[in-house]
Amino acid sequence: MTQYKYHLDKTSNKFNCPKCNKKRFVKYVETETNHYAESHYGRCDRETNCGYALYPYNNSIVSYEYVNTPPVKLSYIEKETLQNSLNKYEIKIKTNHTLKCHPELNRSLAKNICLIQINMSLKS
Ligand SMILES: [Zn+2]
Repeated sequence: MTQYKYHLDKTSNKFNCPKCNKKRFVKYVETETNHYAESHYGRCDRETNCGYALYPYNNSIVSYEYVNTPPVKLSYIEKETLQNSLNKYEIKIKTNHTLKCHPELNRSLAKNICLIQINMSLKS
């Protein structure tokens, strides 16, 4: 979990807002010491009516949990194995079906792309 040097006070303590002076101001707390940051750092609860918010300028990340993702394992096959596997299939390539089969493509788009349909079937 990301942990910042300061976080907004999670208790129900509210202080007088430096801007609107209503007692709706939530202060920042220094995570390590649990002491309040300087009194002008915080956020007013009256988001729409007041909108005062001032973040500690040096609110740096002090610790975070590093999630180590395992590297993707690649697998290889011999070229010969690949070719042999393809020999088991009869491959027919159709190229002229684009506009008939895909009416959702407009002609200007279809001019710039080439759709091919590959039919693969096992050789009997
Ligand atoms: Zn306010």
